[in-house]
Amino acid sequence: LDQIQTVSPSIAANIVQELRDQRSNLKMIASENYSSLTTQLAMGNLLTDKYAEGYPNHRFYAGCDNVDAIESEAAQLAQELFGADYAYVQPHSGADANLVAYLAILSAKAQKPILSELGYEDPSKLSREDWNKVREVVHNQRLLSLDYYSGGHLTHGYRHNISSHLFDVYTYSVDRESGLIDLDQLRKQLHEVRPLILLAGYSAYPRKLNFAKMREMADEVGAVLMVDMAHFAGLVAGKVFTGEYDPVPHAHVVTSTTHKTLRGPRGGLVLCKEEFAEWVNKGCPELLGGPLPHVMAAKAIAFREALRPEFHDYAQKIVENSQALAAACVEEGLDVLTGGSDNHLLLINVAKTFGLTGRQAESVLRECKFTLNRNSLPFDANGPWYTSGLRIGTPAMTTLGMGAAEMREIASIIKLVLSNTTPAKTASGKQSLTKYILDNEILVSAQQRVQAL
Ligand code: PLP
Repeated sequence: LDQIQTVSPSIAANIVQELRDQRSNLKMIASENYSSLTTQLAMGNLLTDKYAEGYPNHRFYAGCDNVDAIESEAAQLAQELFGADYAYVQPHSGADANLVAYLAILSAKAQKPILSELGYEDPSKLSREDWNKVREVVHNQRLLSLDYYSGGHLTHGYRHNISSHLFDVYTYSVDRESGLIDLDQLRKQLHEVRPLILLAGYSAYPRKLNFAKMREMADEVGAVLMVDMAHFAGLVAGKVFTGEYDPVPHAHVVTSTTHKTLRGPRGGLVLCKEEFAEWVNKGCPELLGGPLPHVMAAKAIAFREALRPEFHDYAQKIVENSQALAAACVEEGLDVLTGGSDNHLLLINVAKTFGLTGRQAESVLRECKFTLNRNSLPFDANGPWYTSGLRIGTPAMTTLGMGAAEMREIASIIKLVLSNTTPAKTASGKQSLTKYILDNEILVSAQQRVQAL
């Protein structure tokens, strides 16, 4: 830090501030965690200086022997950890991993057949006219994914994301009454839409999914089953989601981040069946430039950590905590969507119970030293900015060693704070969607209780 201080005191100060922030506020964001110091050290070093476009033993730069070894080890460990046919560890993020997967599936299932029809193998040999014919076929493929308000991710075809330009996007939603994904309903929609890709996976859905059934359904219409397990990869690695709930044996392609429940460095990962390996391996040049060797080294460390038996206990505890927190919230009279949780997160409707927006609830709880995020709920009348809900996750709290007693205390503090918060009025006398009023005594008491956790 002294070194950084001499070059940029402001950056050094922000790093120290962030350390204080992460230590003095309780991290309840479902997509965050605390990576190990070993992971962080593997990431912060001279490996960042090396270019290594291509893949192991097939690079466009000299001097890649060490990066070859690092990437091969990380990929091999990922295969072992998840029992996958093939692993590609270059994606810089979950968003990149999804794009690599989309391009691989489009190349294998849409581009290759039309290229052979036109008598080519290599797209760079095509005339402009023929290439435009290929583009038309490739860009007219259908994607069927969970809609944003039902918990899908931006990269699953949201209009403000590049994925919506790559596909003709159709979405499925959770059931209005139960808040659950109804697989029988999805089967009907799948038969109507007949997409190239059926995409499963979520950022904000509190239940597990039956991937064996989804694969069966995808096969009925000849679709590729892609699963984005970014949020619950740690529960798969820790063997909490097994059998029909483990996406790896069932999906053709699985994407993930490495930094959420998996507790590794910030990054992405693609796993696939052998038939897609050749296409996934073309992540560079299709989408990516040079890989990040320092991050691939840190991924290898995190995969080794997740292969240890303790990781199973950790993953199990994440789910137990999420269930304990959901049950305690229900007991406190909070509106927990679907009534509980099977995974690492729960969703709470604060508009219905407290007349607050998610934005107000997020801000007031942050003042009380809880760091969590507001979240759109299914069919949310407050839209994606103000929202009606909160998303709470237990991965980071579990890393801190918390258990059922802490979950009960957290639910009680949330109830205390939200039931004493009222929306403020705007200058024109309307109810504010952002500002709120909370009595100072309650605020101080909540802060003290969070500090004591
Ligand atoms: N996929 C899902 C399901 C996610 O929840 C996220 C991030 O929140 C991503 C992909 C994107 O990951 P990243 O932020 O690393 O690009």
